[in-house]
Amino acid sequence: MSDEKLDIPDQFASPAVPALLSDDSLIQFKCYKGISCFNACCRHADVTLAPYDVLRLQQRLGMNSAEFLKAHTVPFQLDADGVPGIKLRTDNDGACLLLDGDNGCSVYEDRPTVCRYYPVALLNMREKDTYQSKQQYSLVREEHCKGHEEAREISLRDYRKEQGVEQYDEFNRSWYELILKKKSGGPGVGKPNEMSLQLFFMASFNFDMLRKFVMSDNFKASYNLPDETYAEVAEDDIALMKLGNRLMRQALFGEKTIPENSGAWERRVDVRKEIWETRAKAEVEARNAKVEEQMRDET
Ligand code: SF4
Ligand code: SF4
Repeated sequence: MSDEKLDIPDQFASPAVPALLSDDSLIQFKCYKGISCFNACCRHADVTLAPYDVLRLQQRLGMNSAEFLKAHTVPFQLDADGVPGIKLRTDNDGACLLLDGDNGCSVYEDRPTVCRYYPVALLNMREKDTYQSKQQYSLVREEHCKGHEEAREISLRDYRKEQGVEQYDEFNRSWYELILKKKSGGPGVGKPNEMSLQLFFMASFNFDMLRKFVMSDNFKASYNLPDETYAEVAEDDIALMKLGNRLMRQALFGEKTIPENSGAWERRVDVRKEIWETRAKAEVEARNAKVEEQMRDET
């Protein structure tokens, strides 16, 4: 096992007991409405979001992507190259905006992966010589969380079932692996250019914009995908998310799983050439107008 690892969720990592746990490990923990610390964790919320978290939350809140991102998230950088991530927005005291006073989480059935796992931290470890991730876990002990004092013992396998994380892990796995590969600096992985970073953000978190992008005439002229794929991503958010992941891999690592139409590159250059020429012409005209004005002033 390599020591490359990606902690998602990583926000509780500092007080984490470093021992690595597996699905068979037993933890002593229970959380329930009525426990003395109820909601204490949500009043210290530092919740990193993964793509499937965003899908579930924006559906739950009845918002489009732009509305959700603006109202409920703050940006941060996932790595030193500026790969963009997002966290749930909090109030000035650090409380999650989705906390409904003493009633608890207002989106409980659709709460993000981090909230489901807590007080367990999910660690995606890179298997030696591959970019496949292997899930392991560690236990986080924070002073405010009294669930550790409850007498119940439960295996991590059962805890994950109880918290409904399996579906979340399944849909987010490919995204975790992508970040792990980026962090591990695999072959062909360098500092992404600005356009790749923008694509990463759109394909990870802004699904309405991603759908508009892949359904556009420009995209269809550039990429050779079957009509059934377009019909699927027009309706199905999970299919859209998966296509977004392939696009990110293509942009970041050159994994060409989406065939490009012949001449696509030349057409893109032509479109850009038109834009450059129009801009250059506008700049020349503006410069000429300024010179003429100066000459008029001098005479
Ligand atoms: S989303 Fe819900 S569970 Fe997660 S921090 Fe906010 S209120 Fe708490
Ligand atoms: S037991 Fe821990 S996870 Fe449950 S409400 Fe209290 S602080 Fe939050």
